[in-house]
Amino acid sequence: MNKIKILDKSFSIFLHEKKINSKISKLAEELNTHEKSKDVVFLGILNGCFMFVSELMKNIDFDCRISFVKLASYQGTSSTGNIKELLGINDDIKDKTVIILEDIVDTGYTIDHIKKELKKHNPAEIKTCTMLFKPEAYQSKEPIEYKGIEIPNEFIVGYGLDYNGYGRNLRNIYQVTN
Ligand code: 5GP
Ligand code: MG
Repeated sequence: MNKIKILDKSFSIFLHEKKINSKISKLAEELNTHEKSKDVVFLGILNGCFMFVSELMKNIDFDCRISFVKLASYQGTSSTGNIKELLGINDDIKDKTVIILEDIVDTGYTIDHIKKELKKHNPAEIKTCTMLFKPEAYQSKEPIEYKGIEIPNEFIVGYGLDYNGYGRNLRNIYQVTN
């Protein structure tokens, strides 16, 4: 299907599953080349990453661990306002190479925040691998070591990404049209 509707919005096809999966296997090849000899913990950021992580991991050919965390947003009492807590992280990342797995990096604020939290657990190093990247929106100075597909600054759904909770199950990626 080339056009779909989710809730009040219309979307049209942007990336086919085949193209996405071939980019993901390229990412896996890069990781296999550069991270193989290390003690790696892959850390998926839920919910959006689930399909990406599943496809990526089928193509990783070295011994590694895979874990997931979730960000909880809540109104804090501090002057900074909205504080995000990292749920599900435990201490077994100490002295390990942590590779954050994201569905999409937009402004980069989420990655900045996660890295700050992870550093408290004293990993050897932290890298980021994202399926999608919006270069025009990116505000952070942190490097993104592994980028799958660069996309324009438009809202997309599918392949794990949602619009108000819906659309995560779509096998292709769709871009909003209105
Ligand atoms: P950032 O903190 O880099 O601005 O945004 C990261 C998060 O915003 C992503 O993990 C994702 O949950 C959400 N996000 C950013 N762009 C999009 C998009 O185009 N579509 C959807 N569904 N989520 C997005
Ligand atoms: Mg996300």
